[in-house]
Amino acid sequence: SSDKGEFFGHPGGLSTLFFTEMWERMSYYGMRALLVLFMTASLQEGGLVITVASATAIYGLYTGAVYFMGLPGGWMADRLIGGQKAVWYGGLIIMTGHIVLAIPSDKTFFIGLILVVLGTGLLKPNIGALVGQLYSSGDQRRDSGYTLYYMGINMGSIIGYFVCGYLQTNMGWHWAFGAAAIGMGLGLIQYRLTLSRLSGIGDGPAEPMTPRNTRSAWMAILAFMIGLVIVTAMVMTGAIVIDPVAMAQYVAIGITAVFILYYAGIFMFGNLTGDETKRLLALLLVCIASTCFWAGFEQAGSSLNLFGRDLTDRMIGTFEIPTPWFQSANSIFLVLMSPFFAALWINLSKRMINPSYGLKSAVGLIIMATGFIVMFFAAQLAASGLKVAPFWLIATYFLHTVGELCLSPVALSAVSKLSPKRMAGQMMGVFVLTYSIGNVVAGLLAGNFDPEKPSEMPALFMQITLFSVAVGIVVLLVSLKTKQWEKLAEKDDSTAV
Ligand code: GLN
Repeated sequence: SSDKGEFFGHPGGLSTLFFTEMWERMSYYGMRALLVLFMTASLQEGGLVITVASATAIYGLYTGAVYFMGLPGGWMADRLIGGQKAVWYGGLIIMTGHIVLAIPSDKTFFIGLILVVLGTGLLKPNIGALVGQLYSSGDQRRDSGYTLYYMGINMGSIIGYFVCGYLQTNMGWHWAFGAAAIGMGLGLIQYRLTLSRLSGIGDGPAEPMTPRNTRSAWMAILAFMIGLVIVTAMVMTGAIVIDPVAMAQYVAIGITAVFILYYAGIFMFGNLTGDETKRLLALLLVCIASTCFWAGFEQAGSSLNLFGRDLTDRMIGTFEIPTPWFQSANSIFLVLMSPFFAALWINLSKRMINPSYGLKSAVGLIIMATGFIVMFFAAQLAASGLKVAPFWLIATYFLHTVGELCLSPVALSAVSKLSPKRMAGQMMGVFVLTYSIGNVVAGLLAGNFDPEKPSEMPALFMQITLFSVAVGIVVLLVSLKTKQWEKLAEKDDSTAV
């Protein structure tokens, strides 16, 4: 191909997107890992002294909102500004958010979070969509390219966990938040310097609107921003009081409704051809698998985290494994196994074995579920009053990561392959809603988890297993049908970098 410098056998533009997303995720996960701890810490510890119930609800709302805003963010790229600018301005807003969090004042805390939410909404879906546009529609490297990109995501997470974790313990909260700002800054500099490698993809809106509609759209965005500022000011001055716990429950339902309505809206008003409709139905199947997957997987931060803290024997001799370390097991396994999976997809396709997106995501979901079988046995041991060995959680995270590699990068690839090019950003935004729903539902599921009552735990983990396996089998069966639809080619295929 005519790429400007290849990146591990992939188009050179992949390296630009890989490192930008790596730094963005460093800032996101580095900060996120400290969020609940910071909110619940006492005044002497420099925290915000928020109750655990409110803090976890705020955390759930925050992660839900981050991914929810991907929908308008993806739409803005398609219709108004193009993917390149969306990533750039999104990154700038994220960096500003972390700078605000680095200011040691509890007044500015929520402003910082809101900025990260808005910026991530612009950046996250669009950088994911740009990756796909590096490949022409028949290019067999797409899945492996997304696997590589996904490895960058997790390299960033590892850097974030360790750098922000270290700074927090040794220098304080706001130094850690400052490091997140610097990380995002490095990503932006790198992005700017290597932008030409994208060879012009995403340099304008894929489906621009009439000047008149463009003006109305900007007016609507302005109105939204003004509304947001007013509501934020009212919450900060105490003029409105929000109960985060009650709100989290409505939000789960609200986001699911938005997902269904938006998808239905595309079917009804998206001017789809028959083939496009079938391809988007095949994608819907992957979205269903993805939602269930994250609802189970995201127990990592909640129920599995508590299991690690209270029911796992973390002493090795005189050394006590810090509970948060278990969280990084996922990212470390992921980085270690990514090259193997990237090669696996390429090797299989060389042998003309191309498992469908639906099949791969069903397999990913079922493998994730087997992780909860391990937890079922671990919980039975714990219920008998023993503290269990760290091996159990590590084995669970290993299985969850294998499942993640079958499903998550593959699903990103499916979005880029199966969506009409003119809606690449929005469809990535719709897909990112599955993260949003999964995260919020995971929080609600974990609400049933009580480390004080270990005897109830095995049943809880078994329920998650059975539910995920059941959905996995249905997805697998339906994928036998949608496999054909995935193969329908896009008519106006103009890309080829
Ligand atoms: N780790 C992945 C990412 O950051 C997926 C996140 C998620 O919650 N689905 O992109």
